[in-house]
Amino acid sequence: MYRAPLKDLRFILDELIGEAAIRSGSTDGAYSAETSAAILEEGGKFAEGILDPINQLGDRQGATWTADGVKMPAEFKAAYRQFVAGGWTQLGASPEFGGQGMPLVLGTAVDELWASANLAFKLCPMLTKGAVEALEQYGSEAQKHAYILKMVSGEWAGTMNLTEPQAGSDLGAIRTRATPDGEHFRIIGQKIFITYGDHDFTPNIIQMVLARIDGAPAGVRGISLFIVPKVMVNCDGTLGARNDVRCVSIEHKLGIHASPTCVLAYGDAGGAIGYLVGEANRGLEYMFVMMNAARLSVGLEGYAMAERAYQQAAEWAKTRVQGKPPIAGSSSAPIIHHPDVKRMLLTMKSHTEAMRALALYAAHQLDLGAGHADASVRALAQARGELLIPIVKAWSTESGIEIASLGVQVHGGMGFIEETGAAQLLRDVRITSIYEGTTGIQANDLIGRKLGRDRGAALAALLGDIETELQAISNSDAALQSCKEATRQGLTLVKDASATLLESLATDPKNAAAVAVPFLMLCGTVFGAWLMTRAAAIAAEQRRKHPADAEFYTAKLATARFYAAHIAPRALGYASIVKNGAASVNEAGAECLA
Ligand SMILES: Cc1cc2nc3c(=O)[nH]c(=O)nc-3n(C[C@H](O)[C@H](O)[C@H](O)COP(=O)(O)OP(=O)(O)OC[C@H]3O[C@@H](n4cnc5c(N)ncnc54)[C@H](O)[C@@H]3O)c2cc1C
Repeated sequence: MYRAPLKDLRFILDELIGEAAIRSGSTDGAYSAETSAAILEEGGKFAEGILDPINQLGDRQGATWTADGVKMPAEFKAAYRQFVAGGWTQLGASPEFGGQGMPLVLGTAVDELWASANLAFKLCPMLTKGAVEALEQYGSEAQKHAYILKMVSGEWAGTMNLTEPQAGSDLGAIRTRATPDGEHFRIIGQKIFITYGDHDFTPNIIQMVLARIDGAPAGVRGISLFIVPKVMVNCDGTLGARNDVRCVSIEHKLGIHASPTCVLAYGDAGGAIGYLVGEANRGLEYMFVMMNAARLSVGLEGYAMAERAYQQAAEWAKTRVQGKPPIAGSSSAPIIHHPDVKRMLLTMKSHTEAMRALALYAAHQLDLGAGHADASVRALAQARGELLIPIVKAWSTESGIEIASLGVQVHGGMGFIEETGAAQLLRDVRITSIYEGTTGIQANDLIGRKLGRDRGAALAALLGDIETELQAISNSDAALQSCKEATRQGLTLVKDASATLLESLATDPKNAAAVAVPFLMLCGTVFGAWLMTRAAAIAAEQRRKHPADAEFYTAKLATARFYAAHIAPRALGYASIVKNGAASVNEAGAECLA
């Protein structure tokens, strides 16, 4: 049974980031901790009461392909109707289009609840939101008017159509064609792996499709973005004829069985009608708007699944009696008292807290980047948010997989048996480090676009701010001191590693590429330590001020201390690989791998 970690989320929103800071990044300045608490409370009820109870059913039953389209389990359709009726599709959307205009940081906190409770369900609203954001930014007034309101209200859903059999990580290889036909285009081609590419939650699905206009330049500079509705929309907004797009099959896969992964055929009957978004050949650039939002949201899936795996493992460990743990006066006791089981649970809990803090911090930076009154704050925060996105995406999902695997381990053999649900978590989370750009692609983005392009300026600004923050923290508590020290050491490692990488990027980029993932993991680990230090500093002070909440704050200090001792030292290994590891990759011929 899933319990929404509302107190942990509010700790980050209200104390680690703070109401005033969040308000300064909200476009209408209307954010309040009180409203946010009420939204989280209601979100928690929905996640626990509606989404969690159908999670295992979704895994067993999955989505079903039929010649008439993909059918979702009836319980999922009912949940979607309730989700829409509850206004959850509107939370972060702009009030101009019927949204509630809540800051991204709150949306990110709420999205965690959906992802933990039912990852397969969560993907549908996530993709619709991404499509809305791209249309808001690049669509014409007529396109915005025709589509956004109904997508924000949840009446219609949206998707993201990039992948083709020969074009996965390499989107420059996209072949889907767009032929001009009067005011619109005819789209012909095949897209694969399209999440919620077809379903019966909604009567219409707005496919956002990347395709190549006839005669466009080769590679990424010749790709355009199109709106391709599943059902054509009449001038008065009512639905017309079916467009020429069909789901020809859905994939059988390791996890997220209730999320239909579709093969979509465009143009079998002459060409699907598609409408160009923005300018021709700038589709990939526009799609990046959707991808940035989606990458943050997939990053949170990593720790959302980790949170759930932790909750489940901790429950199990409290009741499973085995062996004689080293506690006074006991012959046999629950396994939670074995030091190694405690180590696993603390790994799960502390790592999850650090990932959540970093993701919410990144979301807050993007809010500041969009909504702060001061242009210089906006610029700095936007660059920082963008720097952190690949780290949140890849570090949190890779770690989420590790933690879900630990969740199985805590259960022992029963973890491997489907009925406990621990195995489903591991199967479901496995995709998160693959879709929306694999870990390797995130690391390329980090070192290429984020570090290389500004010669490390955004990273250096963040490191400088962390150093200043550490100086202002007094060593009032042993846990706090150990976390602060671990962060300080980590900062030196990140600084050295980024200098090594910048040098490689300038002299021999393949050496940077060979160690890009360890560099990304180094950054995640160290930034996690920084925010755990901030959390520990707050907890040490609040514990003194609010003895009634001592248990909560003592647990925060315990996880910070554990993070410093068990997780932060991984930074040493990653840094060593960045410094010394490139040659062993690049000098090994491909024949070594035969
Ligand atoms: C369940 C599921 C849902 C999905 N949903 C969607 C969706 O809604 N819309 C959509 O468009 N797509 C979707 N995808 C596709 C997904 O985004 C791709 O699978 C992913 O981007 C990887 O592409 P690929 O599978 O072709 O792997 P490949 O690109 O073939 O990658 C294979 C391996 O090579 C590595 N690699 C490739 N290129 C590089 C490089 N330049 N540098 C370093 N390493 C590299 C990768 O990291 C990976 O380890 C989904 C996929 C799945 C399985």
